[in-house]
Amino acid sequence: MGAIKCIGILTSGGDAPGMNAAIRAVTRTAIYNGLEVKAIYRGYRGLITNEIETFKTQNVSNIIQQGGTILKTARCAEFMTPEGRKQAYDTLVSQNIDALVCIGGDGTLTGARIFATEFNYPIVGLPGTIDNDLYGTDSTIGYDTALNTIMDAVDKIRDTATSHERLFFIEVMGRDAGFLALNGAIATGSEAAIIPEIATEYDQLGELIKNGFRKSKNSSIVLVAESPLTGGAMAMAERVKNEYPQYDVRVTILGHIQRGGSPTAFDRILASRMGAAAIDALLDDQRNVMIGIQNDEIVYVPFTKAIKNDKPINRELLNTLRILSI
Ligand code: ATP
Repeated sequence: MGAIKCIGILTSGGDAPGMNAAIRAVTRTAIYNGLEVKAIYRGYRGLITNEIETFKTQNVSNIIQQGGTILKTARCAEFMTPEGRKQAYDTLVSQNIDALVCIGGDGTLTGARIFATEFNYPIVGLPGTIDNDLYGTDSTIGYDTALNTIMDAVDKIRDTATSHERLFFIEVMGRDAGFLALNGAIATGSEAAIIPEIATEYDQLGELIKNGFRKSKNSSIVLVAESPLTGGAMAMAERVKNEYPQYDVRVTILGHIQRGGSPTAFDRILASRMGAAAIDALLDDQRNVMIGIQNDEIVYVPFTKAIKNDKPINRELLNTLRILSI
């Protein structure tokens, strides 16, 4: 493949606050470097259906503060088939797009890796997911905003929990990862977090009950990651109601509010740095890497590493939460 003259950009999978800031940074850094930019709508689906528009610098004006993604996002089953990916490749060739920047989570980067290998095509990925579950980066775009949304919601629930002396199980997102639950619990002074990473190690709820999770307090809040491994907040509440009917138990499922909202300063800056780094990486002949951040430095993480490895939680945080909730 010759020198890159035109790049395509897409957002895929679950939306995350800060994706727009990333689109803006990729677009403007590319134009600054003399590249043409083509925006692909609705993730991989737009590559198959040829929903593509040339972007100028003004196409990304006034979006840095907006949640969601102006490029829309979608889940695309066809891209999981060789025929679907061949169609996507044909579109890229007909549109003269020489390289792609894909913004999304684990699934998006898995698709990118398969496509890049199949067609020997240059792709750089940006970690855009509120779950923070991608290996090789300290933070993903959208995670900090979601954490702040959880904090605001839990602070409000605490007011009513305290007034009624209730025990609340609050379910937060995180199918395979407890980052939102664990750090959300620390940020809100919650009693505990029930997370998938240690679900098979011991009975987290049982332990909590054994240690007397109400102690001297007149209300309690427990954050539960929505994962099948934890069973979710409903299952926790049912169990407590059956085994400890004296507790006044309530459940709140925060749901999709966690995905929305204007990105925090942290996410805007992270997305801006990562977006600019994606173009630098492509111009530097990097391929099949995800842009990550480690100790405030931009790093290139091979797709295979970012996808295949589970990102470990910091066990110190569990201990801190336990100590601070006495
Ligand atoms: P989030 O973490 O927010 O859910 P995600 O990127 O993991 O985001 P997915 O729905 O898992 O979201 O994946 C997005 C898209 O990536 C899929 O709809 C599909 O088009 C593509 N994709 C996922 N896995 C594969 C795969 N194994 N092969 C090809 N394409 C894939």
